[in-house]
Amino acid sequence: MMATEIGGVQALEAQFILQLYRRSPVTFVRGQGVRLYDAEGREYLDLLSGIGVSSLGHAHPALTRAVADQARTLIHTSNLFFHPLQGQLAERLASLSGLSRAFFCNSGAEAVEACLKFARRYWYTRGEPRAEFVALDESFHGRTFGSLSVTSDEHYRTPFEPLLPRVRFVPANDRDALLAAVSAETAAVIAEPIQGEGGIRLLTPGFGAAIMEASRKTGALVIADEVQCGLGRTGVAFRSSAIGLTPHMMALGKALGGGVPIGAALISEDVAKAMSIGDHGSTYGGNLLACRAALCVLDELIDGGLMPQIARLGRHIESRLKAIAAAHPIVKEVRGAGLIWGLDLVRDATPIVPAALSQGLVVNRTAGTVVRLLPPLVITIDEMDDGLTRLDAALGIVEAQGGQA
Ligand code: PLP
Repeated sequence: MMATEIGGVQALEAQFILQLYRRSPVTFVRGQGVRLYDAEGREYLDLLSGIGVSSLGHAHPALTRAVADQARTLIHTSNLFFHPLQGQLAERLASLSGLSRAFFCNSGAEAVEACLKFARRYWYTRGEPRAEFVALDESFHGRTFGSLSVTSDEHYRTPFEPLLPRVRFVPANDRDALLAAVSAETAAVIAEPIQGEGGIRLLTPGFGAAIMEASRKTGALVIADEVQCGLGRTGVAFRSSAIGLTPHMMALGKALGGGVPIGAALISEDVAKAMSIGDHGSTYGGNLLACRAALCVLDELIDGGLMPQIARLGRHIESRLKAIAAAHPIVKEVRGAGLIWGLDLVRDATPIVPAALSQGLVVNRTAGTVVRLLPPLVITIDEMDDGLTRLDAALGIVEAQGGQA
């Protein structure tokens, strides 16, 4: 594509696309492994993977083959009929999570939405309806009405109110506040084991124990939102296990399809028993293409032995990021695990994004002051080191720009 045509891409969008995103002025046209290429042929190291989605990187040979083969064979039939792949994918997810049933949908928000509805349905079936949900400050669960209702950010919520009534928010890692908020009226507690959009904030094992204690005392169900931090990202299948959470339901999305849209709500047998035919559904959910992609991702992640490598890489990244933080006064704190990291700055992190792009690096800003790294799960230590060297340079550029950046 010629340089002039890039302007054409942006002009066309400016005229016809609903303007909801503040895009960086880059047009990516191709990817290979952990690298992206723009329309002018410039190469970028991708430490964001499409916000945690491109788990196998770009144009991964096995995923490319699987998707192309499935597209040639059969893409979609609806949930009115059986196909061979949904049960296989559900079985794999059950053995990974210990949650015996799966509902497939198309995004993280839909997975959360399903979990919220299933929680309501569970209590309705028991003949003691419960309407209330308890969620955490700094949470992000999606943009549909239900998932937005348990998302804390006022900026996202206010224009769309009234949302679901009776959602109580408590500060993350505050045991007393949680125990005070959860009662026999609570249908479910929902939490991200690592709060992603909220700025890579880790829930502690103590707080994981408090959620389980609140659940035991009141019967409230526990929903773990593993959309961003799950599926190997921290070197274990699900981050819940690292903080002692044994949820009744789990929401998955992002990394599961490696870029092919798929979400999943995983459900315990006890909760599943409360559902009836027709209670919920999705036209596309779990179609052949999405299931084939997800099976391929799980093959690479689990059978390909990626997770121990991610855990090791995480320890290396931590020490490098701490050294980078020590060298840059604008970095206040480094938080994360495995391949999910945030650098919390003393100022707005917005200028880091163009500075990184100028160094051929893709990262993003979240929660105002946080630079977020969510590299593809297949990244090697050398590629990661290259990316962190570029990040170091980007931080230097922003520091040199000083107050006007
Ligand atoms: N839950 C979490 C923890 C997320 O990070 C996100 C997206 O960032 C969502 C849910 C919503 O997922 P989606 O954008 O696929 O609807």
